[in-house]
Formats: sequence, structure tokens, C-alpha cells
Amino acid sequence: GEKEGEERGGTKGAVLFTVYCFLLLGFCWWLGGVINREGWLEGGGIRGERGGGRRTEDKTYRVEVSLEDVFNEQILSFEGERIEVCDECHGMGVIHSNPPSCPACQGRGVQYRTVKLGPYQSFKTEERCSACHGTGTHPEYICPKCHGHRHIRKRVQHTVPIPAGLEHGQVVVLEGESDEYVDHESGDVRVVLLLKRHRYFDKDGDNLVTNMTVPLKEALLGFAKTIKHLDGSTVDVQSTDITGPGDELLVKGMGLPKEGGGRGDLRVRVRVDYQKNRIFSQQQKQELVVLLADGK
Ligand SMILES: [Zn+2]
Ligand SMILES: [Zn+2]
Repeated sequence: GEKEGEERGGTKGAVLFTVYCFLLLGFCWWLGGVINREGWLEGGGIRGERGGGRRTEDKTYRVEVSLEDVFNEQILSFEGERIEVCDECHGMGVIHSNPPSCPACQGRGVQYRTVKLGPYQSFKTEERCSACHGTGTHPEYICPKCHGHRHIRKRVQHTVPIPAGLEHGQVVVLEGESDEYVDHESGDVRVVLLLKRHRYFDKDGDNLVTNMTVPLKEALLGFAKTIKHLDGSTVDVQSTDITGPGDELLVKGMGLPKEGGGRGDLRVRVRVDYQKNRIFSQQQKQELVVLLADGK
């Protein structure tokens, strides 16, 4: 009676244990699927994407732009680093369609070494095969350019046309110019354009603002002057009347390129130099009183 009961209990335990094992296996299988799908096991620089296709990571560069470059609608150029599919072996890593395996590691890519700790103790170490760079391919058939790695690291030149209507911090996307991997779509290079401050010109939307100082005499009687613009050309600015401090002279169409075409304006802000150390004689003062009398 009692012995039989114990035996049944033992069988029940074994059944439960088996069920647990299956549950655990199921969980591991599910977890493995998730890890694979998310691409966690892949090396850096690669991320999975829904819909099957894989894409390399986007890269971001911050590039300074001068106001001259914006005004002159220049095309910027900057250097970056890019991983590309080896053009020698077309990403195969080998220079033969069916190369023999590495004799040093029998194609495993790793070499085992036994390290003796004592007369009875030893352990095995695993090292990347130095003969084939861990590729497992016969050294004579490995691509000499990428050493079997299928990809090469290159310095590349990216070019960015400065967009009209550029704002500080604006991002220009260069599609597909990020790293290139075998069986991957290339990600984008994002260029953050940072506008450098200019010594003489300020940007105000599509307009340019600059300052010009004129002596009091010219502020009162008028003037004709030239300004050196951002493309090196000279711009004529003139006044035939009285110009007060802070007044702006407008030069139409001489500003920055607008997004929809055309250009903004150049605004020349006038500063007046009163020449305060100048001293008028009594005679001159009386003449000024007459000249500046009300109603005249
Ligand atoms: Zn090898
Ligand atoms: Zn190669």
C-alpha cells in the first residue's frame, strides 16, 4: 500500500519535471526568435528593419557654413569615413568561387592550443587562426584587399549643396551615403549645417543686415558710399537727405537666396559719428543757430 503510493508520487514528479523542461525549452526558443528578429546578435552598425530588408545605421555630421558660402550658393564638401563592400572581391572575401579551406585550421577559422597547468591539469584555448585571419579559407585565396573581411574602411568625400533659405541647424539628408554592407541597404548621412557668425553681416531671415558709420556732415548733407559684399563685389549706397542714427537704407535683391527663388534684401543700418571732440567757435555756433532755426 504505502510503497506503491510513494512510487506513484515519484512518477508524478518526473512527469511534472518533463513538463517544466518543455516549457523552458519553449521559452528559450521564443526568446531566440525575438533576439534574432531584433538583430541583437549582429555586430555594431547594423540594425534590423521590419519588412525583411536590413539597413546600416544613419550617421550624423555637423558642418560649419560661412555666410559667404550661403550667399554664393556654394556646394560644401567634407570628408568622412565609410565602410564599403570590397571592390576587389565584390564582398566575397575570396578571389575564387570555391576556394579550398585553410590547412592551418582545417577551415574552422580558429586554432586550439592546449595549455598545461601541471602534470594532471590542462585546458584548451581557442584563438583566431592567424594564417587565414579567421576566415577559414586557404590564405592564397583570400582577397588581398580586404583580407577576407568583405568590407573595407575608406575616407570619402561627401558633398552638400547649401539649400536656399538655410537656417542655422538645418539638416540635409544624403540618402544612402552611410556605411555599405553586403546584403544591406545603406543608411543616410545627416548633415547638420551650422551657420558661422560673420564679422560684418548678420542674417535676418533671407535678408542681410550690415552697419555703416557716416560722419555728422554726411548724415546731414547726404553721401555716396560703397560696401564690399559677400561675393567681393561692391554695392553702392547713397543718401541725398538727412540720415538719422539707426536709419536703414534698403538695397533690394542683394540678400540671401530664398527658398522659392530670388533673393532677400540688404539692409544698411546707419550709425552717425558726431565727432564729439570737435569744438565750435562762438561765430560757428551762431551760424549753426541760424541754419538749424525752427521752420527753416
Ligand atoms: Zn585558418
Ligand atoms: Zn575583398
